[in-house]
Amino acid sequence: MLKKFYLNTENEGLYNITSYVRQTVNESGVTSGIAVVFCPHTTAAITINENADPDVQTDLLFALDKTYPDRPQFRHAEGNSSAHLRSSCVGASETVIIEDGSLLLGTWQGIYFAEFDGPRKRHFFVKVIKG
Ligand code: ZN
Repeated sequence: MLKKFYLNTENEGLYNITSYVRQTVNESGVTSGIAVVFCPHTTAAITINENADPDVQTDLLFALDKTYPDRPQFRHAEGNSSAHLRSSCVGASETVIIEDGSLLLGTWQGIYFAEFDGPRKRHFFVKVIKG
């Protein structure tokens, strides 16, 4: 089963999309397999991280800003090379194991759509595979 979800993002931020992935797994009826979450954008990403303390998300974005700042030497005419770098660093997808009809996420894990170049109209895919 493949589902496409739409997301209107504000500025840079992490958007918790775990419920969309769970919904897709439930609708699929798959009790054992994997769920692949994929972001088809070059200045956004998918990541798994803590869902309890929002300061973790703030710190993650802060550290990515420090690691990949805008630089005058960048040549990309759109002016968002820093966002492209963060997208590649974090990655376009995550894979989560499904067992007994549930995602095998840790207690403190959530699945996030990471926006590095908002506001934008975004979408992402969730593919559930039985196996
Ligand atoms: Zn660009």
